[in-house]
This record gives sequence, C-alpha cells and structure tokens, in this order.
Amino acid sequence: MTVIKDKGERALLPPFTQEHEDLRESANAFVSKEIAPNLDRWEEERGFPDELFTRCGELGFLGLKFPEEYGGQGGDYVHNAVWMEALAYSGAGGGVSAGLGAHSEIAMPPIWKFGTEEQKQRWIVPGIKGELIGALGITEPSGGSDVASLRTYARPVDGGYVVNGSKTFITNGVRADFLVTAVKTSEEGGHQGISFLVLEKDMPGYEVTSKLEKMGWHSSDTGELGFTDVEVPAENLLGAENEGFKLIMANFQWERLTMALGAVGGMQRVFEETLAYAKEREAFGRSIGRFQVIRHKFAEMSVTIEAARSLTYAALRKFVDGGDAIREVTQAKLFSQRAACDICDEAIQIHGGYGYMREYGIERAYRDARLGPIGGGTDEVMKEILGKQLGL
Ligand SMILES: Cc1cc2nc3c(=O)[nH]c(=O)nc-3n(C[C@H](O)[C@H](O)[C@H](O)COP(=O)(O)OP(=O)(O)OC[C@H]3O[C@@H](n4cnc5c(N)ncnc54)[C@H](O)[C@@H]3O)c2cc1C
Repeated sequence: MTVIKDKGERALLPPFTQEHEDLRESANAFVSKEIAPNLDRWEEERGFPDELFTRCGELGFLGLKFPEEYGGQGGDYVHNAVWMEALAYSGAGGGVSAGLGAHSEIAMPPIWKFGTEEQKQRWIVPGIKGELIGALGITEPSGGSDVASLRTYARPVDGGYVVNGSKTFITNGVRADFLVTAVKTSEEGGHQGISFLVLEKDMPGYEVTSKLEKMGWHSSDTGELGFTDVEVPAENLLGAENEGFKLIMANFQWERLTMALGAVGGMQRVFEETLAYAKEREAFGRSIGRFQVIRHKFAEMSVTIEAARSLTYAALRKFVDGGDAIREVTQAKLFSQRAACDICDEAIQIHGGYGYMREYGIERAYRDARLGPIGGGTDEVMKEILGKQLGL
C-alpha cells in the first residue's frame, strides 16, 4: 500500500486514491496561502468577500463533482470530500467552509440532481464559476427539526406560484443570488405537500430581513428572509410538485457527510496545533505534554479522531457506491460533531489561559464547532433517525 506524505505516515485510505491525495495537497496549499491568512479579518468584518467564490470557481474547487461540459472538473464526490476536509484542516473551517459549502454542497446539488437542463444552465454553470451565489432555505422561524411542518406557502396560480412566508438561519442568505427554497404547495403541506422553488434575490417581495449575529462562524453570513407575494414562474420549480420532501432528505445525506468531513479535518488541525504547543510549553521544569494526565488526553483524542475519521470515510464509501448510506451518514454526523466540540474543549484546557485568547485560534475553533450538533439536523434528530432504523 502506498504511503502518503500528508499527515505523517497515514496510509492511503479508501475511497481516496493517489489522485485524491494530490488534490488534497493542492487544496491544502491554496487554503493555507489564500484563505487562512485572511480569516481573522473576515471574522471581524463578519463576512468573507464574494470574490472568494470566483477565486475558488476559477481554481475549480466549486465544480469538482460536476461534468466538464457544465464547467466542472469531471470528478466525483470523493474529490469534493477532499476539498471539504482540506478547508477545515488548513484553517478555514467554520464560517468560510459554511459559506462556500452552502453554495456548492447544499444549494447546487439539488439543482443538479432534480433540475431541468435549462435550470442547470441558469444556475449550475454560473454557480460553478462562483459568479452566482446560492443558498438553501429550509429552516423557518417556527422550527427547523420538524421539516414537514414548514409554513412558507407557494400558492399555485396560472403560470407559477405566489410565495408568502419566511426563512431563518440561512447561510449565505444575505448575499445569495438564488435561494433553493422549500415551500408547501398545498394548504395542508406536510410530507406530501412540499415542493422546491428557486427564488431569486431581485424578485419583487423577496427581502433580506436581517443579518443575524452568531456565537461563531462569523465569516459566513446568516440571513433571515421574508417573502411577500413573490411571483415565481413555473420554470423555477425544482423536480416534481409536492415531491420536495424526498429532495430534502436526499440533500441531507451529502450535507451531513460534508459536516463530518469538516469535523475530521478541523479536529486533526486542532490536535496537531495543541500537540506542538504541549511539547513546547513548560511547567514545573518539563514540557506539559510529559505530564501523564496531558499525555493521556492526547492518547484519547487521537482515538476519538480516528474513530470519527473511520466512521466518516466508511459513510463516504457507501455514499459514493450509491448504496443507502443513511445509517452510516447519520452515525458519522452524530459522532463527529460532538467529538469536535470535545476535542476543542480539551485543546483549550491544554493551552491553559492562552487557549482562551483569540491569538491561538483555538477559542474560535471551539465556538465554530458548537454549531455542529445543531446544524444540518440536531444530535437529537440524528438519534431519532437511528432509533427508528432499529425499529424503535
Ligand atoms: C449558523 C447556522 C447556519 C444555518 N444554516 C442553515 C441553512 O443554510 N439552511 C437552512 O435551511 N437551515 C440552516 N440552519 C438551521 C439549522 O439546520 C437548524 O437550526 C436546525 O435544523 C435545528 O432547527 P431549530 O433551530 O429550529 O431547532 P428546533 O427544531 O426548534 O429544536 C430545538 C431543540 O429541540 C430538539 N428537538 C426537536 N425535535 C425533537 C425530537 N423529535 N426529539 C427530540 N428533540 C427534538 C432539537 O434537537 C433541539 O435541541 C442553520 C442554523 C445555524 C445556527
């Protein structure tokens, strides 16, 4: 088996091939050079510039899994997995990953999967270039976990729909040019009454009502949106009317996998930085890493990270093989997000007072990680899915 250069002696792990590892190397280099050095400023400014989308588009990172005839790289989900992990590993987890990912990993895939040729030309082609920015709008002020009870209503009219309602917590919500939006298309709504419409920011009645302030992910914008009598033409319907619930569920699998991949990359980075710190920092005449209690923390953290990595890669293998990967993806998402919080917590502890300071970036990783057990479906929702799969 080939031994890869990345991360020391780690062996080449399926489904990653040497080609994927080469991509990892260039993705890590790009993120370290062009994103990570700007991160503190973008956090302060509460957003990274739109130009980052075009830059990532230019380098091909937004279209890794899309065919070349649409401007993509002709790769697959594994190439994309490398990118999502590299973003977090090289110091651009949290807000930047969320903003880029909301566009290329959760807003574009449903258009790709369920859209017509015309819709792909309208949103996927410029989306891959980063010239149009997308967002996915499912969550509403009245609730996110109970997706089927969403209230935004697209009343069918001649030639399309009239949409009234609101969405909240939408990543890229403030800047998005197009919003892949879950709506109910019958008054009753529910599992059989949800559809997807692509709303566009210049449609009359479409309004960004608030840019939300958050605990972390400061470099991403998170918006609240209101729709008042927005007229949406029928050609903006994605997939079949009233079959949107299936689309939501299909989309969740890749979103949750990308979150797991981000957690693995982010934990690995925090671990390596903390290890270097523990070897250097001295107390009572020795490096703190040589206290047994600290050494054992590292031993435990290394096991947690490898467990998260193994679960995540196993889920990824099943997902790219085209099998039903709901159980594996749900387990990976559940385990990795909580693990990332725990690893960041330990890392702060090992850093002592410096862990609490902005300078070391650990406190940001900690704040950013806290969204993991909430976003993309909460821990409790993951446990419900797994429990139901067990027939309970
Ligand atoms: C920074 C950020 C970015 C986000 N980005 C997006 C985005 O781009 N697009 C989008 O659509 N959404 C986005 N979200 C929304 C996110 O997906 C929701 O916050 C999440 O799904 C939870 O929904 P909620 O916040 O309404 O919580 P609620 O559904 O109100 O849940 C509150 C609590 O009740 C628990 N609970 C709910 N139902 C059950 C149950 N059946 N059993 C046990 N416990 C239960 C939950 O686990 C949670 O602990 C984002 C959220 C944040 C904070």
